[in-house]
Amino acid sequence: MMRTTCLLAVVAAACSVPATGHPVDQGAATSAISLDPALRAREQELLSRALEEDDAINILAELLHAAPKRLSGSPGAEDAVRFCVAKMRELGLDNVHTEPCTVPHWVRGEETASVESPRALPLRITALGGSEPTPPEGITAELLEVKSFDELRALGSKAAGKIVFFDRPMSRTLMSTGQAYGEAVPQRTEGAVEAAKVGAVGALVRSITTVIDEFPHTGMMRYADGVPKVPAAAVCTKDAEELAALLERGPVRIHMLLGCQTLPDVTSANVVGEIKGSEHPEQVVVIGGHLDAWELGDGAEDDGAGVAHVLEAMRLLRVTGIHPKRTIRAVLFMNEENGTRGALAYAAAHSSELSRCVAAFETDSGGFTPVGFSTDLKGAKAEAFRQLVAPLAEVRMGAVLPGGGGADIGPMAKAGVPLYGLVVDDNRYFDYHHSARDTIGVINSRELALGAAVLAYAASAVADQ
Ligand SMILES: [Zn+2]
Repeated sequence: MMRTTCLLAVVAAACSVPATGHPVDQGAATSAISLDPALRAREQELLSRALEEDDAINILAELLHAAPKRLSGSPGAEDAVRFCVAKMRELGLDNVHTEPCTVPHWVRGEETASVESPRALPLRITALGGSEPTPPEGITAELLEVKSFDELRALGSKAAGKIVFFDRPMSRTLMSTGQAYGEAVPQRTEGAVEAAKVGAVGALVRSITTVIDEFPHTGMMRYADGVPKVPAAAVCTKDAEELAALLERGPVRIHMLLGCQTLPDVTSANVVGEIKGSEHPEQVVVIGGHLDAWELGDGAEDDGAGVAHVLEAMRLLRVTGIHPKRTIRAVLFMNEENGTRGALAYAAAHSSELSRCVAAFETDSGGFTPVGFSTDLKGAKAEAFRQLVAPLAEVRMGAVLPGGGGADIGPMAKAGVPLYGLVVDDNRYFDYHHSARDTIGVINSRELALGAAVLAYAASAVADQ
């Protein structure tokens, strides 16, 4: 976790869409661009091959079959490493290997909760990642509902002995769901610390999603030195609404039991494979997604789709015979969800060559229809990238938006590596994100294939500059 970019890191590490704003005058800019016929031909070949062969969904299905549950430190995460090494070899990539990283090993256990008074009511909850367990018999306490940390602090000692219920909904009105997520998610990441500071015995967080349904959404939380570690869980939005209605009528007592535990760190790995550059093999364009996933569902959108994008992009470059001047390196990062240890290990291990990394692309926003790219580049550099992706803009997938690249490539920013995030239509992403709904059934194979082709096009165009 990067300490220097706290909010962005929290948002990104929680697997969201890169923070983006409005398109940078896309229409006006593209109208002034004369499209390179060779680049347009490349774009059209990649798109048509991706749609015709439809392999991205097959790659995703194979990954989810080999490693449906792949939270860092788990046997499933190692299955994902093995699968991706084998798949990269099958695709004929160069220099396929793993690079070690040490990851946390938190495991979910029994998790139940129910209202005890004013009337019995089962609650659908899930432990937040990294939470301490409750005592074996659970905890029983009155709920204290708040919408903000300021409200909680103002209540002060009234929170002592209670379970704080963080019930601020994720905004439905912001145009960027990534931004809405970023505004709501501190309740989940920091709620347990803020609750403990005022003497509460636990935290219960409304799931960070805009839908009202029965599925609790997990995600990373953290503790702070010197603050008691109280257990923390998320409750599905339907039950959160019910709790809020009950609380309007009077006190509500609940019982909550979490059996999760944190085990010793384990050694895991990033998976790397390349297409060596034809003229400047020492110069690198990275394309990456993350291997690990929360295990309530299968992590199909987050970030199985990103892994499929990366592997399918490499396959497309191989089968079309596109062989850029610079090396394209696929990096499948471990532990994005609860530590970004793979990202940090990669940046550290490659520190001496990051000056020769000409770009890093990340896909971690789901497998939806691609919209374009976010980038931290500005001015003439952003304009040059916009010109490169102009053929994509003609088919509504080449927007260039201000924003970052993502959590896994973020540590390369300090070395000056230009960062790009694949931006997709994120209206439905948080319906599934970190919940049992995140399975392959919510993936559209055509949309997934387009994302892979767009990534292959942009990375290869940059690598040929
Ligand atoms: Zn993710």
